[in-house]
Amino acid sequence: MKAEVIFTGTELLLGQILNTNAQYLQQALASIGVDLYYQVTVGDNLSRIIEAIQQARARADLIIIGGGLGPTEDDLSKEALAAALNLQLKENSVALKIVERFFKQYGLKMSSNNLKQALLPEGARVIDNPAGTAPGIVLEHNQKIYILLPGPPGEFKRMLEKEVLPFLRKRIGKNLMVIRSKVLKLTGIGEAALDEKLGELLHSSNPSVAPTAKLSKVHLRITAKAQNNTTADQMIENMEEKIRNKLNDFIYGVNEDTLAKAVIKQLQKKNCRLSLVEVFTGGYINHLLTSIPGHKNYLDLCISTSNSEKLANLLHIAPDLFKQNNYVELAAALATGIKNYTNADIGFAITGSYQEGLVYIGTAYKDSSVKKMQLWGSAHEMKERAATTSLSALWQMLK
Ligand code: AMP
Ligand code: MG
Repeated sequence: MKAEVIFTGTELLLGQILNTNAQYLQQALASIGVDLYYQVTVGDNLSRIIEAIQQARARADLIIIGGGLGPTEDDLSKEALAAALNLQLKENSVALKIVERFFKQYGLKMSSNNLKQALLPEGARVIDNPAGTAPGIVLEHNQKIYILLPGPPGEFKRMLEKEVLPFLRKRIGKNLMVIRSKVLKLTGIGEAALDEKLGELLHSSNPSVAPTAKLSKVHLRITAKAQNNTTADQMIENMEEKIRNKLNDFIYGVNEDTLAKAVIKQLQKKNCRLSLVEVFTGGYINHLLTSIPGHKNYLDLCISTSNSEKLANLLHIAPDLFKQNNYVELAAALATGIKNYTNADIGFAITGSYQEGLVYIGTAYKDSSVKKMQLWGSAHEMKERAATTSLSALWQMLK
Protein backbone atom coordinates (compact mmCIF):
# COMPACT_ATOMS: atom_id res chain seq x y z
CA MET A 1 0.00 0.00 0.00
CA LYS A 2 1.30 3.43 -0.99
CA ALA A 3 0.49 6.39 1.20
CA GLU A 4 0.76 10.12 0.85
CA VAL A 5 0.44 12.47 3.79
CA ILE A 6 -0.81 16.03 3.70
CA PHE A 7 -0.22 18.26 6.71
CA THR A 8 -2.25 21.45 6.78
CA GLY A 9 -1.43 24.58 8.72
CA THR A 10 0.11 27.90 7.75
CA GLU A 11 1.88 27.89 11.12
CA LEU A 12 3.86 24.83 9.97
CA LEU A 13 5.04 26.65 6.83
CA LEU A 14 6.01 29.74 8.81
CA GLY A 15 8.15 27.65 11.12
CA GLN A 16 6.15 28.65 14.17
CA ILE A 17 5.54 25.09 15.26
CA LEU A 18 7.50 21.97 14.54
CA ASN A 19 5.68 19.25 12.63
CA THR A 20 5.97 16.63 15.36
CA ASN A 21 3.01 14.67 14.01
CA ALA A 22 5.07 13.90 10.91
CA GLN A 23 7.72 11.82 12.65
CA TYR A 24 5.14 9.91 14.62
CA LEU A 25 3.05 9.13 11.55
CA GLN A 26 6.07 8.13 9.46
CA GLN A 27 7.18 5.64 12.09
CA ALA A 28 3.65 4.28 12.44
CA LEU A 29 3.30 3.71 8.68
CA ALA A 30 6.71 2.04 8.51
CA SER A 31 5.70 -0.27 11.34
CA ILE A 32 2.94 -1.74 9.15
CA GLY A 33 4.95 -1.70 5.94
CA VAL A 34 3.04 1.09 4.22
CA ASP A 35 5.27 2.91 1.73
CA LEU A 36 5.29 6.65 2.16
CA TYR A 37 6.60 8.23 -1.04
CA TYR A 38 5.47 11.82 -0.64
CA GLN A 39 4.68 14.09 2.28
CA VAL A 40 3.24 17.51 1.62
CA THR A 41 2.73 20.47 3.92
CA VAL A 42 0.22 23.04 2.75
CA GLY A 43 -1.11 26.24 4.32
CA ASP A 44 -4.71 26.88 5.36
CA ASN A 45 -5.87 27.70 1.86
CA LEU A 46 -8.80 25.87 0.31
CA SER A 47 -7.66 25.71 -3.31
CA ARG A 48 -4.14 24.63 -2.38
CA ILE A 49 -5.44 21.88 -0.09
CA ILE A 50 -7.74 20.66 -2.89
CA GLU A 51 -4.78 20.65 -5.26
CA ALA A 52 -2.71 18.67 -2.75
CA ILE A 53 -5.50 16.08 -2.41
CA GLN A 54 -5.84 15.73 -6.18
CA GLN A 55 -2.12 15.24 -6.55
CA ALA A 56 -2.00 12.69 -3.73
CA ARG A 57 -4.95 10.75 -5.11
CA ALA A 58 -3.14 10.33 -8.42
CA ARG A 59 -0.14 8.57 -6.86
CA ALA A 60 -1.25 6.91 -3.60
CA ASP A 61 -3.86 4.43 -2.31
CA LEU A 62 -4.02 5.93 1.14
CA ILE A 63 -4.22 9.67 1.71
CA ILE A 64 -3.86 10.92 5.27
CA ILE A 65 -4.59 14.54 6.07
CA GLY A 66 -3.47 16.00 9.40
CA GLY A 67 -4.98 19.13 10.93
CA GLY A 68 -7.73 21.47 9.81
CA LEU A 69 -10.64 19.74 11.55
CA GLY A 70 -11.27 22.52 14.04
CA PRO A 71 -14.27 24.83 14.24
CA THR A 72 -12.67 27.98 12.81
CA GLU A 73 -12.62 29.39 9.31
CA ASP A 74 -9.06 28.32 8.59
CA ASP A 75 -9.94 24.68 9.27
CA LEU A 76 -10.62 23.50 5.75
CA SER A 77 -9.68 19.84 5.40
CA LYS A 78 -13.20 18.41 5.15
CA GLU A 79 -14.31 21.17 2.82
CA ALA A 80 -11.31 20.52 0.61
CA LEU A 81 -11.86 16.76 0.57
CA ALA A 82 -15.55 17.16 -0.28
CA ALA A 83 -14.69 19.58 -3.08
CA ALA A 84 -11.88 17.42 -4.47
CA LEU A 85 -14.18 14.38 -4.63
CA ASN A 86 -17.28 16.28 -5.61
CA LEU A 87 -19.20 15.26 -2.50
CA GLN A 88 -21.64 17.16 -0.27
CA LEU A 89 -20.93 17.93 3.38
CA LYS A 90 -23.74 16.64 5.57
CA GLU A 91 -24.39 16.74 9.30
CA ASN A 92 -23.54 13.38 10.85
CA SER A 93 -25.31 12.35 14.05
CA VAL A 94 -22.38 10.32 15.44
CA ALA A 95 -20.04 13.25 14.87
CA LEU A 96 -22.51 15.63 16.48
CA LYS A 97 -22.67 13.43 19.58
CA ILE A 98 -18.86 13.49 19.88
CA VAL A 99 -18.79 17.28 19.70
CA GLU A 100 -21.65 17.66 22.20
CA ARG A 101 -20.14 15.12 24.58
CA PHE A 102 -16.91 17.11 24.79
CA PHE A 103 -18.72 20.31 25.81
CA LYS A 104 -20.91 18.52 28.32
CA GLN A 105 -17.94 16.73 29.85
CA TYR A 106 -16.06 19.94 30.55
CA GLY A 107 -19.15 22.02 31.33
CA LEU A 108 -18.39 24.35 28.43
CA LYS A 109 -20.82 26.18 26.24
CA MET A 110 -20.88 25.00 22.64
CA SER A 111 -20.76 27.73 20.03
CA SER A 112 -22.49 27.57 16.67
CA ASN A 113 -19.04 27.27 15.07
CA ASN A 114 -18.69 23.83 16.59
CA LEU A 115 -21.62 22.52 14.56
CA LYS A 116 -19.23 22.72 11.62
CA GLN A 117 -17.27 19.90 13.22
CA ALA A 118 -20.25 17.56 12.84
CA LEU A 119 -20.30 18.00 9.07
CA LEU A 120 -18.85 15.09 7.08
CA PRO A 121 -18.47 14.37 3.37
CA GLU A 122 -21.17 11.92 2.24
CA GLY A 123 -20.18 8.30 2.84
CA ALA A 124 -17.58 9.12 5.50
CA ARG A 125 -17.27 7.28 8.82
CA VAL A 126 -16.43 8.89 12.10
CA ILE A 127 -13.35 8.10 14.18
CA ASP A 128 -14.03 8.77 17.84
CA ASN A 129 -11.99 11.44 19.61
CA PRO A 130 -12.40 11.20 23.40
CA ALA A 131 -9.74 13.85 23.89
CA GLY A 132 -11.15 16.72 21.83
CA THR A 133 -13.95 18.18 19.80
CA ALA A 134 -12.86 17.20 16.32
CA PRO A 135 -13.95 13.72 15.22
CA GLY A 136 -11.61 12.01 12.78
CA ILE A 137 -12.82 10.75 9.44
CA VAL A 138 -12.38 7.70 7.21
CA LEU A 139 -13.71 7.88 3.70
CA GLU A 140 -13.38 5.16 1.09
CA HIS A 141 -13.97 6.49 -2.38
CA ASN A 142 -13.03 5.10 -5.81
CA GLN A 143 -10.63 2.51 -4.37
CA LYS A 144 -8.80 5.13 -2.32
CA ILE A 145 -8.82 5.53 1.44
CA TYR A 146 -8.87 9.04 2.91
CA ILE A 147 -8.17 9.51 6.60
CA LEU A 148 -8.48 12.90 8.30
CA LEU A 149 -6.99 13.43 11.75
CA PRO A 150 -7.03 16.47 14.05
CA GLY A 151 -3.79 18.47 14.45
CA PRO A 152 -3.29 18.62 18.24
CA PRO A 153 -0.52 16.05 18.79
CA GLY A 154 -2.20 14.24 21.70
CA GLU A 155 -5.41 13.69 19.72
CA PHE A 156 -3.52 12.87 16.53
CA LYS A 157 -1.39 10.27 18.25
CA ARG A 158 -4.20 8.63 20.15
CA MET A 159 -6.43 8.30 17.12
CA LEU A 160 -3.63 6.95 15.02
CA GLU A 161 -2.67 4.34 17.58
CA LYS A 162 -6.12 3.27 18.77
CA GLU A 163 -8.16 3.54 15.60
CA VAL A 164 -6.21 4.09 12.41
CA LEU A 165 -3.45 1.50 12.76
CA PRO A 166 -5.82 -1.33 13.74
CA PHE A 167 -8.07 -0.36 10.81
CA LEU A 168 -5.17 -0.35 8.36
CA ARG A 169 -3.73 -3.61 9.68
CA LYS A 170 -7.06 -5.30 9.13
CA ARG A 171 -7.41 -3.71 5.73
CA ILE A 172 -4.00 -4.86 4.58
CA GLY A 173 -4.75 -8.33 5.97
CA LYS A 174 -2.41 -11.11 4.95
CA ASN A 175 -0.35 -8.72 2.83
CA LEU A 176 0.72 -6.90 5.98
CA MET A 177 4.41 -6.03 5.90
CA VAL A 178 6.71 -4.33 8.37
CA ILE A 179 9.60 -1.99 7.74
CA ARG A 180 12.39 -2.19 10.32
CA SER A 181 15.67 -0.31 10.59
CA LYS A 182 18.92 -0.53 12.49
CA VAL A 183 21.64 2.10 12.51
CA LEU A 184 25.32 1.12 12.72
CA LYS A 185 27.51 3.96 13.97
CA LEU A 186 31.06 4.33 12.71
CA THR A 187 33.96 6.62 13.40
CA GLY A 188 37.52 6.93 12.11
CA ILE A 189 36.55 6.32 8.50
CA GLY A 190 35.63 8.87 5.84
CA GLU A 191 32.68 8.55 3.50
CA ALA A 192 34.82 7.85 0.44
CA ALA A 193 36.71 4.99 2.12
CA LEU A 194 33.43 3.64 3.41
CA ASP A 195 31.89 3.65 -0.08
CA GLU A 196 34.86 1.75 -1.39
CA LYS A 197 34.75 -0.87 1.35
CA LEU A 198 31.00 -1.42 1.14
CA GLY A 199 30.93 -1.58 -2.66
CA GLU A 200 27.94 -3.57 -3.90
CA LEU A 201 26.29 -3.66 -0.46
CA LEU A 202 25.32 -0.02 -0.94
CA HIS A 203 23.19 -0.96 -3.95
CA SER A 204 21.27 -3.68 -2.17
CA SER A 205 17.54 -2.92 -2.10
CA ASN A 206 15.99 -5.13 0.60
CA PRO A 207 17.56 -4.71 3.05
CA SER A 208 18.88 -1.36 1.87
CA VAL A 209 22.01 0.25 3.27
CA ALA A 210 22.14 4.04 3.44
CA PRO A 211 25.06 6.07 4.85
CA THR A 212 24.77 9.54 6.35
CA ALA A 213 27.98 11.36 7.12
CA LYS A 214 28.32 13.49 10.24
CA LEU A 215 31.40 15.18 11.60
CA SER A 216 33.89 12.43 12.56
CA LYS A 217 31.05 9.91 12.32
CA VAL A 218 29.11 7.97 9.71
CA HIS A 219 25.74 6.36 10.32
CA LEU A 220 24.77 3.35 8.24
CA ARG A 221 21.06 2.66 8.26
CA ILE A 222 19.99 -0.86 7.33
CA THR A 223 16.30 -1.09 6.42
CA ALA A 224 14.37 -4.27 5.71
CA LYS A 225 10.79 -4.87 4.64
CA ALA A 226 9.27 -8.25 5.44
CA GLN A 227 6.12 -10.12 6.49
CA ASN A 228 6.92 -9.86 10.18
CA ASN A 229 9.41 -8.41 12.66
CA THR A 230 11.34 -11.65 13.07
CA THR A 231 12.01 -12.02 9.35
CA ALA A 232 12.90 -8.33 8.97
CA ASP A 233 15.27 -8.50 11.94
CA GLN A 234 16.89 -11.63 10.52
CA MET A 235 17.46 -9.87 7.18
CA ILE A 236 18.98 -6.92 9.02
CA GLU A 237 21.20 -9.20 11.06
CA ASN A 238 22.52 -10.95 7.95
CA MET A 239 23.34 -7.62 6.36
CA GLU A 240 24.92 -6.37 9.58
CA GLU A 241 27.21 -9.40 9.59
CA LYS A 242 28.35 -8.69 6.04
CA ILE A 243 29.05 -5.07 6.97
CA ARG A 244 30.86 -6.03 10.15
CA ASN A 245 33.08 -8.39 8.17
CA LYS A 246 34.35 -5.38 6.27
CA LEU A 247 34.12 -2.56 8.79
CA ASN A 248 33.93 -3.95 12.31
CA ASP A 249 36.94 -1.96 13.51
CA PHE A 250 35.13 1.30 12.88
CA ILE A 251 31.75 0.45 14.45
CA TYR A 252 31.43 2.00 17.89
CA GLY A 253 27.74 1.34 18.47
CA VAL A 254 24.22 0.89 17.13
CA ASN A 255 20.95 2.84 17.17
CA GLU A 256 20.92 5.23 20.15
CA ASP A 257 24.52 4.53 21.24
CA THR A 258 26.81 7.55 21.58
CA LEU A 259 30.56 7.99 21.29
CA ALA A 260 30.69 8.88 24.99
CA LYS A 261 29.05 5.57 25.83
CA ALA A 262 31.49 3.73 23.57
CA VAL A 263 34.45 5.40 25.30
CA ILE A 264 33.19 4.47 28.78
CA LYS A 265 32.62 0.90 27.58
CA GLN A 266 36.22 0.67 26.33
CA LEU A 267 37.53 2.12 29.62
CA GLN A 268 35.55 -0.53 31.50
CA LYS A 269 36.79 -3.29 29.24
CA LYS A 270 40.42 -2.27 29.68
CA ASN A 271 39.88 -1.29 33.31
CA CYS A 272 41.54 2.08 32.67
CA ARG A 273 41.10 5.42 34.35
CA LEU A 274 41.08 8.62 32.35
CA SER A 275 41.96 12.19 33.38
CA LEU A 276 41.23 15.25 31.29
CA VAL A 277 42.45 18.80 30.77
CA GLU A 278 39.82 20.78 28.89
CA VAL A 279 41.18 24.19 27.96
CA PHE A 280 39.14 24.44 24.77
CA THR A 281 35.87 22.73 25.70
CA GLY A 282 35.33 23.97 29.26
CA GLY A 283 34.42 20.59 30.71
CA TYR A 284 31.99 19.64 27.96
CA ILE A 285 33.71 16.33 27.17
CA ASN A 286 33.68 15.48 30.86
CA HIS A 287 29.99 16.35 30.94
CA LEU A 288 29.27 13.95 28.06
CA LEU A 289 31.28 11.16 29.68
CA THR A 290 29.77 11.64 33.13
CA SER A 291 26.28 11.41 31.60
CA ILE A 292 26.92 7.72 30.92
CA PRO A 293 25.84 5.33 33.70
CA GLY A 294 28.74 3.39 35.21
CA HIS A 295 31.38 6.05 34.42
CA LYS A 296 32.39 6.52 38.02
CA ASN A 297 35.35 4.16 38.36
CA TYR A 298 36.84 5.11 35.01
CA LEU A 299 37.04 8.89 35.18
CA ASP A 300 39.54 10.47 37.51
CA LEU A 301 40.06 14.21 37.37
CA CYS A 302 38.96 16.85 34.91
CA ILE A 303 40.59 20.27 34.93
CA SER A 304 38.85 22.95 32.97
CA THR A 305 40.67 26.26 32.95
CA SER A 306 42.55 28.56 30.63
CA ASN A 307 44.66 29.91 33.50
CA SER A 308 48.07 28.91 32.18
CA GLU A 309 49.93 29.82 35.34
CA LYS A 310 47.86 27.40 37.41
CA LEU A 311 48.15 24.67 34.81
CA ALA A 312 51.93 25.14 34.57
CA ASN A 313 52.35 24.91 38.34
CA LEU A 314 50.00 22.02 38.91
CA LEU A 315 51.14 19.84 36.02
CA HIS A 316 54.81 20.86 36.07
CA ILE A 317 54.88 22.34 32.60
CA ALA A 318 57.44 24.97 31.56
CA PRO A 319 55.55 28.32 31.50
CA ASP A 320 57.22 29.21 28.21
CA LEU A 321 55.25 26.50 26.41
CA PHE A 322 52.08 28.52 26.98
CA LYS A 323 53.65 31.75 25.76
CA GLN A 324 55.06 30.37 22.52
CA ASN A 325 51.65 29.31 21.23
CA ASN A 326 53.23 25.99 20.46
CA TYR A 327 49.99 24.07 20.69
CA VAL A 328 51.34 20.70 19.55
CA GLU A 329 53.92 20.51 22.30
CA LEU A 330 51.51 22.04 24.78
CA ALA A 331 48.74 19.50 24.13
CA ALA A 332 51.26 16.66 24.56
CA ALA A 333 52.65 18.17 27.77
CA LEU A 334 49.16 18.71 29.24
CA ALA A 335 48.10 15.15 28.47
CA THR A 336 51.25 13.66 29.99
CA GLY A 337 51.09 16.16 32.86
CA ILE A 338 47.56 15.21 33.93
CA LYS A 339 48.30 11.52 33.51
CA ASN A 340 51.28 11.75 35.86
CA TYR A 341 49.63 14.14 38.28
CA THR A 342 46.60 11.89 38.82
CA ASN A 343 48.41 8.62 38.26
CA ALA A 344 45.71 7.71 35.73
CA ASP A 345 46.16 5.22 32.90
CA ILE A 346 45.25 7.77 30.26
CA GLY A 347 45.80 11.50 30.07
CA PHE A 348 43.80 13.60 27.66
CA ALA A 349 44.12 17.29 26.81
CA ILE A 350 42.38 19.63 24.41
CA THR A 351 43.58 23.14 23.67
CA GLY A 352 43.48 25.49 20.72
CA SER A 353 42.12 28.77 19.46
CA TYR A 354 38.52 29.67 18.65
CA GLN A 355 39.77 32.65 16.65
CA GLU A 356 41.77 30.47 14.29
CA GLY A 357 39.29 27.59 14.52
CA LEU A 358 42.11 25.24 15.42
CA VAL A 359 42.08 22.55 18.04
CA TYR A 360 44.81 20.24 19.32
CA ILE A 361 43.96 16.95 20.99
CA GLY A 362 46.67 15.31 23.06
CA THR A 363 46.48 11.78 24.41
CA ALA A 364 48.94 10.01 26.67
CA TYR A 365 48.41 6.28 27.08
CA LYS A 366 51.02 3.71 26.10
CA ASP A 367 52.35 6.31 23.67
CA SER A 368 51.47 9.94 23.45
CA SER A 369 50.16 11.67 20.36
CA VAL A 370 48.65 14.96 19.24
CA LYS A 371 45.99 15.43 16.62
CA LYS A 372 45.34 18.81 14.98
CA MET A 373 41.86 19.63 13.67
CA GLN A 374 40.52 22.55 11.68
CA LEU A 375 37.06 23.55 12.94
CA TRP A 376 34.39 25.86 11.56
CA GLY A 377 31.06 27.36 12.52
CA SER A 378 29.92 29.29 15.58
CA ALA A 379 31.75 28.94 18.90
CA HIS A 380 29.01 26.60 20.06
CA GLU A 381 29.36 24.41 16.96
CA MET A 382 33.16 24.38 17.29
CA LYS A 383 32.86 23.17 20.86
CA GLU A 384 30.44 20.45 19.82
CA ARG A 385 32.70 19.34 16.96
CA ALA A 386 35.81 19.44 19.13
CA ALA A 387 34.09 17.18 21.67
CA THR A 388 32.97 14.69 19.01
CA THR A 389 36.44 14.55 17.49
CA SER A 390 37.99 14.08 20.94
CA LEU A 391 35.71 11.21 21.87
CA SER A 392 36.37 9.63 18.49
CA ALA A 393 40.14 9.93 19.07
CA LEU A 394 39.83 8.42 22.56
CA TRP A 395 37.72 5.53 21.31
CA GLN A 396 40.08 4.76 18.44
CA MET A 397 43.06 4.86 20.76
CA LEU A 398 41.42 2.51 23.26
CA LYS A 399 40.41 0.05 20.54
P1 AMP B 1 -5.75 22.06 13.67
O1 AMP B 1 -6.27 20.67 13.80
O2 AMP B 1 -5.21 22.35 12.32
O3 AMP B 1 -6.76 23.06 14.12
O4 AMP B 1 -4.51 22.19 14.64
C1 AMP B 1 -4.67 22.44 16.01
C2 AMP B 1 -3.33 22.68 16.67
O5 AMP B 1 -2.58 21.48 16.62
C3 AMP B 1 -2.45 23.71 15.96
O6 AMP B 1 -2.64 24.99 16.43
C4 AMP B 1 -1.08 23.22 16.30
O7 AMP B 1 -0.66 23.79 17.52
C5 AMP B 1 -1.22 21.74 16.45
N1 AMP B 1 -0.76 21.06 15.24
C6 AMP B 1 -1.38 21.00 14.04
N2 AMP B 1 -0.69 20.27 13.16
C7 AMP B 1 0.42 19.85 13.80
C8 AMP B 1 1.53 19.04 13.44
N3 AMP B 1 1.65 18.52 12.22
N4 AMP B 1 2.51 18.82 14.36
C9 AMP B 1 2.39 19.34 15.60
N5 AMP B 1 1.35 20.10 16.01
C10 AMP B 1 0.37 20.35 15.14
MG1 MG C 1 -4.77 24.19 11.44
